[in-house]
Amino acid sequence: MGGIAERLADIQARVEQAARAAGRDPKSVRLIAVSKKMPPEAIREAYAAGQRLFGENYAQELAAKADALADLSDIEWHFIGHLQSNKARLVAPRARVVHTVDSASLAKELARRAEAAGRTLEVLVEVNVSGEPQKHGIVASELAEVLAGVRAFPTLSVRGLMTVPPEGDLDVARQVFETLASLRNLHGGPAVLPELSMGMSGDFETAIAAGATIVRVGTAIFGARS
Ligand SMILES: *Cc1c(COP(=O)(O)O)cnc(C)c1O
Repeated sequence: MGGIAERLADIQARVEQAARAAGRDPKSVRLIAVSKKMPPEAIREAYAAGQRLFGENYAQELAAKADALADLSDIEWHFIGHLQSNKARLVAPRARVVHTVDSASLAKELARRAEAAGRTLEVLVEVNVSGEPQKHGIVASELAEVLAGVRAFPTLSVRGLMTVPPEGDLDVARQVFETLASLRNLHGGPAVLPELSMGMSGDFETAIAAGATIVRVGTAIFGARS
């Protein structure tokens, strides 16, 4: 398997290859190393290998790690898990991008906490494209309303859309990714919503073929989570 640096280099190469295969500029796809449940030392190892963007799923864990790694001043935290409004205070001062905005009330709380921290937050709206009941995110028909709601807050900058497809079937994942890309086109296109956050360890190449600008890869870089 090699170490974190080797796996990271391998994933970075596969990301670039997938972009080229899709006729896209490799620089148009950013790789987030998803470090949930991994210790700060694993993040330091990836950082030493050149990785700067990290994704976390749990508010408390993000806060603890961001504080423990505060000496890595150019690290960029992405919050990619489901977020309850009462945890926004932990995330807003630390994350650059929150990928999982799924209600106007969460947006309001993030905006308030970002303002208190004297900063702005980039946000993505999470869409439950497949409609699985256990999944977070809004349904497509709510998108216009939620986008408008989020845009009302001057400390939030809406950058795009995020989705998580059902596990295990690449054809289904491809359909979900392509649907998210069409939804982006229905709501202003890349000029208005430049980011599509989609693709994980098992399907990031498929996501890049469908237009992903951010892929979120955990296991393939850090190994299995216990
Ligand atoms: C855990 C997680 C990832 C990374 O998943 P891997 O399969 O380990 O690459 C990506 N996105 C979200 C939303 C996650 O929760």
